[in-house]
Parts: sequence; structure tokens; C-alpha cells
Amino acid sequence: MTEFKRDGSHLASYPPVEKWDDWVEYDAEAWPRRVERHYQLVPTICFNCESACGLLAYVDEETGQVEKFEGNPRHPASRGRLCAKGPATITQIHDPDRILYPMKRSGPRGGGKWTRTSWDEVLETFGARIRKAFQENRGEEVMYHVGRPGHDFIMERTLQAWGIDGHNSHTNVCSSSARLGYLLWHYADRPSPDHANARFILLLSAHLESGHYFNPHAQRIIEGKMAGAKLAVMDPRLSNTASMADYWMPSYPGTEAAVLLAMAMVIFKENRFDATFVKNWTNWEELEVDGFSAKGQSFEALIEALKRHYAKFTPEFAEKESGVKAEVIVKTACEIAAAGSRFASHLWRGSASGNLGGWQAARALMLLHVLTGSVGTPGGHNLNAWNKFVPRPFKNPPPQKRWNELLYPQEWPLCTHEMSPLLPHFLKEGRGRIEAYFTRVFNPVWTYPDGFSWIEMLRDEEKVGLHAALTPTWSETAWFADYVLPMGFSSERHDLMSQESYAGKWIGFRQPVLRVLQEREGKKFDYTYQANPGEVWEEDEFWINLSWAIDPDGSMGIRQWFESPYRPGQKLTVDEYYGWIFENSVPGLPETAAKEGLKPLEYMRKYGAYEVTTDVYKQNEKPVAPADLSGSKIETNLVVTKEGKAVGVMVDGAAVVGYNTPSRKLELFSQTMADWKWPEFALPEYYRSHIHRSAQAASMGKPGEGCDPDFDKRYMPLVEWPKDSNGEVYTLLPIFRLPHLIHTRSGNSKYLYEIAHKNPLWVNPVDAQKLGNIHTGDLLKVHTEIGFFVLHAWVTEGLAPGVVACSHHMGRWRLNKDDQIERMSSAWVDLKEVGKGQWKMRQTSGVEPYETTDPDTMRVWWSDAGVHQNLTFPVHPDPITGMHCWHQMVRVERAGADDRYGDIFVDTNLSFAVYQRWKALTRPAPGPGGLRRPLWIPRVVRPEEAAFYMNKT
Ligand code: SF4
Repeated sequence: MTEFKRDGSHLASYPPVEKWDDWVEYDAEAWPRRVERHYQLVPTICFNCESACGLLAYVDEETGQVEKFEGNPRHPASRGRLCAKGPATITQIHDPDRILYPMKRSGPRGGGKWTRTSWDEVLETFGARIRKAFQENRGEEVMYHVGRPGHDFIMERTLQAWGIDGHNSHTNVCSSSARLGYLLWHYADRPSPDHANARFILLLSAHLESGHYFNPHAQRIIEGKMAGAKLAVMDPRLSNTASMADYWMPSYPGTEAAVLLAMAMVIFKENRFDATFVKNWTNWEELEVDGFSAKGQSFEALIEALKRHYAKFTPEFAEKESGVKAEVIVKTACEIAAAGSRFASHLWRGSASGNLGGWQAARALMLLHVLTGSVGTPGGHNLNAWNKFVPRPFKNPPPQKRWNELLYPQEWPLCTHEMSPLLPHFLKEGRGRIEAYFTRVFNPVWTYPDGFSWIEMLRDEEKVGLHAALTPTWSETAWFADYVLPMGFSSERHDLMSQESYAGKWIGFRQPVLRVLQEREGKKFDYTYQANPGEVWEEDEFWINLSWAIDPDGSMGIRQWFESPYRPGQKLTVDEYYGWIFENSVPGLPETAAKEGLKPLEYMRKYGAYEVTTDVYKQNEKPVAPADLSGSKIETNLVVTKEGKAVGVMVDGAAVVGYNTPSRKLELFSQTMADWKWPEFALPEYYRSHIHRSAQAASMGKPGEGCDPDFDKRYMPLVEWPKDSNGEVYTLLPIFRLPHLIHTRSGNSKYLYEIAHKNPLWVNPVDAQKLGNIHTGDLLKVHTEIGFFVLHAWVTEGLAPGVVACSHHMGRWRLNKDDQIERMSSAWVDLKEVGKGQWKMRQTSGVEPYETTDPDTMRVWWSDAGVHQNLTFPVHPDPITGMHCWHQMVRVERAGADDRYGDIFVDTNLSFAVYQRWKALTRPAPGPGGLRRPLWIPRVVRPEEAAFYMNKT
């Protein structure tokens, strides 16, 4: 059906920009009468995942309220399209239970009693505590811990302005595993696949549907498919993504690297690899393996050595390990070889984040790109650093001098990010304490494994002196804070964002819509909370003001970084911060804005996004800049150096910039791994995960059943079962996402919770039989190493036998019947500590209709809030990446007469013991030269170089 509006625009099109100041639509609720509604449309950026899609806020001119959100057609990455979570922002901002004012606890910590306070009191309290800590040289006791960042650079700048090593993040429960696999190849820790131009796309896990940057990527994957590309998905679960694929490869969890290396061997054996690319762009001459050294050898000898090394990865071996049919492995390998430089792929979490050694899946996947020469090519694999644009502000503080061992401890010198899941254990071991702790859109009690250890840490005022939860919604963690500080959603804050969505670069500008509109009309605000609902603020202004509160007279050297670049000595405003960036740090933006008679800031406020450049490929082939070349020298390994620093590499007689690795090439062979005590992983390898079937057999006291003796020697016994656990042993996949939920931030979105609100245990019919003829809806008890949880079964063929799965999005809970976590998404629970470290949770009631100012809350028809499985998981820090290896070996049995839906039991004494077992697998620093970690590997908020050496503090 084609229908046109009275202005001639098609229903499928977007409001043209020239009408954004007065857009007219008919009021749907007034139908069949034609009642006009007039809107002002203001662009902003979605805050509901990392993709940073462009939103258009529709502000009703009569009510002055945001009425809905749609896609911003001027946003180069999302191009007007959104997933379900973008438009659902409207339910978050109008949630009647949202936090509108800063709150301070009024009873014991964790007691659930709050009183309203003022922003001034918050700034004064934290300013004084932090100032004292800094004056007493206790800077490492101030920690910022971020869940969803949603901004680029401003926080790093703030912490360096404070001179502290205090940035903590959630990355080690998220993506740090794949990051190391990519980083070892080419320094950049993420792929930027050019899906739209690919001929063959390989996705590990449900990327199209719910993975990283998924709306911008998903639309380009579909474009690629529409242009004839084939899609393969390797995922044990028949996800929506797998259902769209030409090849679904339901690999046994943790065996993906074996399949990928078998594919590489097919390409090797059939001599279908791009020899010129491998020869020119890998560090093959440095390779040493199985007694073979490539130094002085021919390239052909190297290839033969590689074939020998990987000979065991036959399709048949990979089939035995993974369950993926050998013929499918061969077929997809041939398709990849045929796609050549137009082979795109993605791996971010899934297999990498689930498994001990999961990082090798990223490394093996990259080997396929290297063999096909599909690095930096149209339709191939590009580097995130080439497609993400982070402009710098007017002046930046120097790197901090200190190294915080609570963040980057010696045991994990190669971790890409902070060892944050271990924080409660580190404090338990007496490694330090925290004076001022900021959790920012971060809910570790619920999202992290071992949440009860987090509760034990957070409630202990000796360990955590003062805790502020900066959050737009209530959370299980906020309950244990001293202050709950309301921060804005997508339309209530400033942020600058960019992501690697395609082969170009762009920036997106999030803005507080109501403030921007009122300022257009001439109204003035000192702070965004004056225009937002209640006193909801934004972090940018909070940090600027807190910095002034810490250093009111500027004597500590902090305030200077938060003074205006235009008004010396005056407090920096957000307009000045971003205005300066747009004027000075974004190539082409001032000129583009000038063409419309706008200042750069006005342009960004009008359009919300700007495309910096397109068609970014082969950045490694850029010539070394003349200034760098002058006075440089060529080392024996052909690396071009200047003043001891690498600036490029000679390739085919030309000095080009290459990659930021030590060899300036793609590192097929990692000297870093060899130097840092892991020589067995100097090449891409496959090794068995902690949940491999041989590990399961060993945990049942049956070593030898399919066991790899090396595996046993290195990793056993990793799993010890609590005394009272029964049932069959399975691998639990606990991390698959539902595409319309937002970790903990969708708890206040009625639209999203109406779509999905339960997380049953996926069980294959074969296993359902084995477990005693289980049917969908039956109660199952799942035992982990530290406790158990009870939930319903969902019997489905969409999962391989031997594996069970449960989405991590559900199981929100609240301790008060009528407040805090939104009642539409949480169960009211009774939580008891029945012995030292022994925690028992039982649901008192599920979701029920409830009365608020929103009549929809009385129409809530679902009762299930799901079950919080993460509480029952111990930490599993990978000994190399530090990534929490999410997959669990579990024992499953039919629930008993005393078990009730949602029951949870955990013993944190056992969780501490599991932590110790995994820690024992590490090979701690120092590395060469007394280093804490390799100098070339990036670090979030990088300290000065001297701090990398262990004889420094
Ligand atoms: S993918 Fe969805 S949730 Fe993520 S930014 Fe885009 S619209 Fe928002």
C-alpha cells in the first residue's frame, strides 16, 4: 500500500531536514478525526547499546514533551534505522519509577532507605573526600568503574587530569578475549568488517541479530546478502542469525578455533592462499616453530613448515572436536578462498568470551583473512582504528605516573583491560581498599559473575569508603551505594561517539533535547539538570564540577583542565568543550557548517552526526610521512625507526606505515607471547576449553575419556563439585543476548519487557529424555561449582545435544516490595545470608500489575521476571587475557519437592576457592626488562612509560 501525507512525502521516507522545526503528523489516538500534532525534531544518539545509532526526538510543540523517537536519516552509520531498543527510549524517559533526584542513603548501607539530597551536597562530599585522598597520596583509592561508556575520551581525560590510575571497566566480562586475538595480529583490537561489499561473510555467534554494532552492521550484512554474498554462522545455538545463514555450523562450544584452523589447512593444502599478501604483509621471517626457524629460509620452506605444524587440523579432526561436519568445513573453506579479498567476518563475544583460550578463535579467524589477503580491502576485514574517529579537546593532561595493581595486577600481564571481575577477591586478599568508588551505568551485582561476592564487598565500609552509583535506572548495585545519582538517557545528556560501523569515519553528537530546544528559544541554563526531568544530570557537567570541587582554588593543578579555552580561569561549559572540538579537531566540519551559515557546534546540534570520510581501506600502505622519514633508519628486519621509535616498514622497496605491531606487519608469529612465557602460543593455535568434553569427564573422576593429556596436566582439576550436587554434566551457554534487551537498563522499558521477560533453560530433546523425560515448563535444578539455580526447561532442537543455554538478560530482583528495581521487570525476593558466605534467595512474588501515574503499569500481564543465573557463577579469569570465561560446566537434574522457581543458593567461600584455582594458571610479570606488561600493547588510560617497570610504583 502506498500512502502519502498531505505534504507529499511517502510514509516510508523521513521528515526532510527543512521541516524538522515544524513537523506535522496526525494524532493517531484521535483517529478517525484528522487532528494535527506539531513537532520539533531534535537529533541525538541512542544510549541503549554501543552502536550509537542516530535518534530523532519528536518534541510536541504544545506539551513541550518528547513524544517519540525515530531514526535520524542523517546519521551515516544507522541511516535512519533502529532496532527495537532505540524507539523504546521513550518508555525509559517517561518511566514513572525512574530516579529523578540525587539520593543519599539514610540507614545502614544496603538497608534500602534513601532521602533526597542536592547536587551541591554531593559535589561537596565527594570533592572533600577525594581531595583528602589526593593530598595524602592515596590517589589509587579513587576509582571510576564504567559499565556502558557511551562517550569517547572525556573520562580518560578527567582521570588523567586528576593524575590517577583509576579507570576500571566491564570489558573483562565482555570482549577482552577476542581483543587479544586481534591485537596480537595487528594492534587494533577489533575488526571493522566491510560487510556490504563482501562475497562471503562468516559470523561467530549471533552477530547479525544481537552482536556488536548490530543495527549498523546488520543492515550492511543484509546489503551484502542482497548483492549475492553468502553467510555462514558458527554458533551452537540456532539463533535468528543462524536461521538467516546459508551455512549453520553448530560447533561444540570452545572448539571454534579447531574448525577455523581446519579451514585454513584446506586453503593451504589446495594452495588457494594469497602468497604475495602473506609474504609482503606478515612477519613470516620471524617465525620459529617445531624446531624450524624461518630466518634465512625461503617463503616456500615457511609454507611447508606451517603445513606440517597445522597438519593435525584435518576436517575430520575438526568434526570430531566440534561436531561440525567435515564436508561443511571443506565447503565453507572453499567459499572463503573463492571470496578472496572480499571475505568479511566478525567475532566479538560468544566463543571468545565463553571459553578458556577463547581468544585463539579470533587469532585463527584472522589467519583466514591473512591467507585470503582480505585485510584492508573492500569487502574484507578492516581495523577498528581505521574507522573510528575520536577527536581531541583543547588541551590534554599528561599521563599519570602511578600504576594501580587493583586494575592491572602482575598475574595477568597480557590482559587487554582491567581485571575488574576480580575486584572483590582482590580486596578480600588485602590488596587495597577504595576510598571513593563511582559505578557508572554499571551493575556488577547483577551483570557480573559471583554477584554475592560483590555484595559482600560493597556493604563493607572498610573496603569501600564511599560509593556513588551514577545511573539512569535503579539497579541491584545501586541498592548498596551511599549515593544514587540520576544520569540522563539518550535525550538528556551530551556525549560524542564514533564506532567502526563501515569503511568510513563518522562522529555522532548526543544532546539533551529539552535543553537544546529551550536554548534555541532564548532560555538560558547553567546546567542540564535544570532542563531535564526532575534533576537528572549528565556526567560531563558532573565531572567538570566535581573537578572544581576537588581543587577549588586551582592549587592542586586539577582545575586548569576544566577551565574554558575561551574565557581564561572560568569554568568550562559543555558548549565550549564540544564547540572547540568541532571547530578544531574534526576535518572538514567547519567548512561544511560554514556552507550552511552555521558554526560547527550549531551544525552538530542541527544534524546530530557528521561523516568525516568514506572508503577507508589499506591504511597500512600509506607512505611514511616525510617528517617521520627524515632522519629515520631502516633496521635489519626492515622496520623504519626514528629516534628509537618505529614509524613504518619497508614493503616492496617503499617505506609505508604498516601496522602498530613490533614488526609493523601482521604478526603470524608473536614474539611477545614467546617473551612473556607462553611460547606454545606464539602462533595461532587451538586448545581445549575448560568446558570441553574431556574436562567434563575429568570433573566426574573419569580422566582418560577423550582426554588430552596436555590439557589434563595444565588445567586439571579446575572444577570441583559441591558435595550435594547431582545430575548429568552439561556445558551451559549463559551469555546469549536477546536483541531487544539492554543488559540492566531495559528494566524500566515497558515495551521491551512486554516482548521478552523469561529465560528458560534450552535443552535438546535427546537430553530432555536423558534427564527423565523432561518437558517444556518442567522445573530443573542447575548446579554450578558454587551453588545452584532453579528454572523452567524449554525443550528445543535449536541447540546441540550436550549443551544447555540460558539468556543472561533476565532475572532482575528487588528487595523491597514496592520500590527500587522497576516492578514490571523484577521479582520481589527474600535474600538471606544463612551462614558465613552462604546466600539463599527465594522469590516472594513475580511480576504483578501495579499502580502508578502510567495506566499501563496496571496492564502488565506477565508474571515471570526470569532467574538470575549469574549469581551462581564463580569467576573464571583466563590466565592470559584475564577475560572471565563465561561458559559453565553444570550438573542438571529435575528439581526436587523443596525447590521453587527462582531459588538460588551460593557459597562465596567456594567462589573464592575457584578464583584461587584459576589464578594458579597464570604466568605473572615481570617480563623482559622488568616490565609489568609489553610496552606496545595498549592500555586504557595509559600511564607514563616509567610506570610500566616493576621497580616503579
Ligand atoms: S542498535 Fe539499537 S540499541 Fe543499539 S544504538 Fe542502535 S538503535 Fe540503539
